[in-house]
Amino acid sequence: MDRTDDERALAAQLLAVYRDLHAHPELAFQEVRTATKVADRLRALGYAVQTHIGKTGVVGVLENGSGPVVLLRADLDGLPVLERTGLPYASTVRARDASGAEVPVMHACGHDVHLTCLLGAAELLARSRQDWSGTVVALFQPAEEAAGGAAAMVADGLFERVPRPEVVLGQHVMPMPVETVAVRAGPFMAFSDRLRIVVHGRGGHASRPETTVDAVHLAAHVVVRLQGIVTREIAAHDAAVVTVGSLIAGAKANILPDTAELNVSVRTLDESVRESVLAAVERVVRAECAASAAPRPPEFFHEQRYPMTVNDAGATERVAAAFARDLAGVRVIDPGSVMLSEDVSELSSAAGAALVYWFIGGFESVPARSFDFRRPPAELPSNHSPRFAPAAERTIGLGTRTLTSAAREWLVPR
Ligand SMILES: [Zn+2]
Ligand SMILES: [Zn+2]
Repeated sequence: MDRTDDERALAAQLLAVYRDLHAHPELAFQEVRTATKVADRLRALGYAVQTHIGKTGVVGVLENGSGPVVLLRADLDGLPVLERTGLPYASTVRARDASGAEVPVMHACGHDVHLTCLLGAAELLARSRQDWSGTVVALFQPAEEAAGGAAAMVADGLFERVPRPEVVLGQHVMPMPVETVAVRAGPFMAFSDRLRIVVHGRGGHASRPETTVDAVHLAAHVVVRLQGIVTREIAAHDAAVVTVGSLIAGAKANILPDTAELNVSVRTLDESVRESVLAAVERVVRAECAASAAPRPPEFFHEQRYPMTVNDAGATERVAAAFARDLAGVRVIDPGSVMLSEDVSELSSAAGAALVYWFIGGFESVPARSFDFRRPPAELPSNHSPRFAPAAERTIGLGTRTLTSAAREWLVPR
């Protein structure tokens, strides 16, 4: 495809923005530098900018005559992951997490792609403002990674401070071929519940286990037994995932600890399945504690609940039609419902707006034509991998075009 000088110049600028954001990732609710960069660029484009909504959130509003209000959303935060992409602009950043521990930080989920694409779309929409009327709200939320950034913006009076949108549009880069977009009407992404569970034993000397209640042994049984919930208690036609992502217990071979901590992620696509799984997790943990003769009952901390992401049927049809019309050479697929989770629907629910959320591909090694979302090639690194490295220029080009195309579907041509 031939590009104009303008398009080439914008692509080069966005690539520089992306490399800078990628090299300087920040953890949830610490996105001060990123928020400042985003706000400065929006102001330069003529957006009315508000900062510090929900701690580090940024919103730019472009009012351009009468017509629908369209909200475009990106997320600001990186992850505590040590980058191993080998890229010349790889992150070497370290920071303190919410618990005070020093951790490496990486844009391992691709939120730097989302930020750059939204800045690109904000620019294209500002440049073409003589062609449309309506209002564009470019929203950059903090802390998407399981920390509730969207809800924090809503609680901070987001929709008293910016116009209430008719539609909320957002996207996520995925391990799919670049030039592929995945979108689905209805239930799209899962409920996510994160539990921190503390089980209590009685510590002591490793040589005298009979004088202790071994919290390590107890926790190990919990881990194994929890995997029976999905296989033995949930119907094959229902979907659920129970993952123990972290198990923390003890420090030395010769000391049995007093406690063990498990951090559990539960994903479901149906409220009644969700309730069954959560109840089963609690039952299994309590029963294993009883089986070990734990001196105290376990403690449960429900640290995060993300709602299901449900795309509005009518609005999704409009977005799919806009992509088919505007994105020549891009393959649009239906990925089915997935067990990933997002907090973007906190925004659409609070605004009473329709939601359309989709995935964009970011990788060149796989041919788009034969790609099957449910069976990705093993060599494609998933989001949160230390090797997650989208093909920057083409991915940003695609994501800028998808956001612009979807937004223009609502903005009134003139
Ligand atoms: Zn993520
Ligand atoms: Zn993400």
